[in-house]
Amino acid sequence: MEKWEETVISDTTFDFHSYSDYSLPKPENLDGCEENLDQICSSSGQPVKKRRLTQKNLFQLWGLENTNHGRIDLHHQLGRRRSTSFNINHKTGKSETATSLASRKDQRLCPFYKRIPGTPFTVDAFCYGPVKGCSVYFLSHFHADHYIGLTKGWSHGPIYCTNLTARLLRICLNVSPSFICPMELGTEYSLKGIKVTMLDANHCPGAALIHFRLPNGQCYLHTGDFRASKMMQSYPLLASQRINILYLDTTYCNPKYRFPSKEDVLEFVVGVTRRYLSNQPKTIVVVGAYSIGKEHVYFAISKALGVKIYANASRRRILRSFGWAGISENLSTKGKDTPLHILPISSLRFEVLQRYLASQHGQYTDMLAFRPTGWTYSENIGENLNLIKPATKGNITIYGVPYSEHSNFTELQEFVQFLRPEKIIPTVNVGKAVNRAKMQSYFQQWLKA
Ligand SMILES: [Zn+2]
Repeated sequence: MEKWEETVISDTTFDFHSYSDYSLPKPENLDGCEENLDQICSSSGQPVKKRRLTQKNLFQLWGLENTNHGRIDLHHQLGRRRSTSFNINHKTGKSETATSLASRKDQRLCPFYKRIPGTPFTVDAFCYGPVKGCSVYFLSHFHADHYIGLTKGWSHGPIYCTNLTARLLRICLNVSPSFICPMELGTEYSLKGIKVTMLDANHCPGAALIHFRLPNGQCYLHTGDFRASKMMQSYPLLASQRINILYLDTTYCNPKYRFPSKEDVLEFVVGVTRRYLSNQPKTIVVVGAYSIGKEHVYFAISKALGVKIYANASRRRILRSFGWAGISENLSTKGKDTPLHILPISSLRFEVLQRYLASQHGQYTDMLAFRPTGWTYSENIGENLNLIKPATKGNITIYGVPYSEHSNFTELQEFVQFLRPEKIIPTVNVGKAVNRAKMQSYFQQWLKA
């Protein structure tokens, strides 16, 4: 995986952020996070000249206007102003210009792709302290790589999010209710003279696409993380108005990712579970899950087999907070009462699972575990899930299943061809120029068709 890497650049005309190649550990190794971890803050110090070229090319690729006689109008694009004021460094007692402040290693500024142009809004920008010019902070969904920086001490401005995400902010992060502004899905709000509507993103519970309509008629759609679906084509807002800029979750924007629908994967998971349990009734079934996300994998097993779900107390609390019908009745507080157990996806390793099986007091002889993530997808398997070869060690079997809450390549194409936006800004896997160029070529092909 790659992540955005942003660095403050000093220049006599403007400051801006740049991107460079960077690798992260495989996301499934990180507990509590989810499939894309592209927006974690960091800094680096590469030569300015190289970065300026990269950024210029990036803007050209994305079709953003170069309006300043050959210079990119970043005051407009970034919504930022270069400051010439002096500040006092409280550690050294010396005065510093904005430029020297900006070059300090710990300085982090909100990158342009998290700002909504022409508005005082940012999306998923909580790790930059108070963002200059931002008076409304949107949170697309409750995944760590998007809310990073939010703590119970948050005080930089109101946070707008869906009702469900608002509950999670209170339960999990203890964010002060005075800063949380819940929004109903599908309801248009007027904020600072801008119409804002949140729409179901078909990602984790509470995740939203955020639609902005400016007084000048410009419409922007920020997908946060999403799994595009045909259902979205029936959203009146998306069907009736042209989107001028689409901020797109491009986690799987590569033709090699054509993994099956969620429904097909769920059917496969249920079928495998039935088979294992009929062969060996003393099998414990484990599903790996993020703190938020992948719920439908174990809901499907629970429903099909008529068994309750065992999860630890903190996960049960989160699940109950969703407010979904039937959840509480299907949760078990005692592991021995049901063969269906939920564990963090990061713990689906043989040594951990062996210990877990051993802790069940001999109630089970075998274990069947599912690791649901799009990263388990292989082109060799394609749509034929029966070709999946599980990993087995002793009496433990682990199935990696391509259940993803992000769009596959085909779904991204269909979504873009439905929306036909004027410009597309990819938000994931953009650390390498070669990836950005490839994605732009896909977008161009799709929009030509
Ligand atoms: Zn997410």
